[in-house]
Amino acid sequence: MKLTIVYDNEAKEGLQKGWGFSCLIETGYNNILFDTGWDGHALLDNMEKLSIDPKSIDTLVLSHQHWDHIGGVTTFLNRNADVDLYVPSSFSANLKKEMATRINGKLYGMKDPGEICRNVYTTGELGDQTKEQALVLRSENDNYIVTGCAHPGMLAITEAASSFGNISGIFGGLHDSQEYGVFKDMQMIGAGHCTSHKDVIRKMYPDNFVKIFAGYTIEL
Ligand SMILES: [Zn+2]
Ligand SMILES: [Zn+2]
Repeated sequence: MKLTIVYDNEAKEGLQKGWGFSCLIETGYNNILFDTGWDGHALLDNMEKLSIDPKSIDTLVLSHQHWDHIGGVTTFLNRNADVDLYVPSSFSANLKKEMATRINGKLYGMKDPGEICRNVYTTGELGDQTKEQALVLRSENDNYIVTGCAHPGMLAITEAASSFGNISGIFGGLHDSQEYGVFKDMQMIGAGHCTSHKDVIRKMYPDNFVKIFAGYTIEL
């Protein structure tokens, strides 16, 4: 399974950076785009530079309804509408209706934990105010969490994700969560996007902290 960060507040040289998050998950069975950043043109531009064909993507998952995660959706769908789309079930009804007319696949409103594709699971919709889903990736021996902004808090996300097995690592935005204890058994802490306390996490877990940015890629 391969994970590539396509959009982040930080980017490697030659790629565009912008407030938001998006990553590609290639499982060998499916190509899943998780979130789209806010600027779809920057998203597509980064994809091109990373030699990712937007048309190779069969599944789009949106973590939550904030602009820095869904702003690029229309631009992406104009390039490739042959996707199934998974959004938290509390997404606005109008947005769901609009998005459903733009895709050739099906739109699924996710509430409960469950499988999205082979080896890829959603935590289901978490949180009170900003509802958000995170993904759990199951590689050969390990499970990894992918988060958008982590608004429901790291504890809630990790607890929900743990129902799929032990968690070995996490990638994505961790917002202002100070529930640092959840990282203690993780081998990889890829804190990106909106993570407020990157320095604290890096100091607490210097061996396991992973710097992520648009263009970062890893085989899991
Ligand atoms: Zn957010
Ligand atoms: Zn965000």
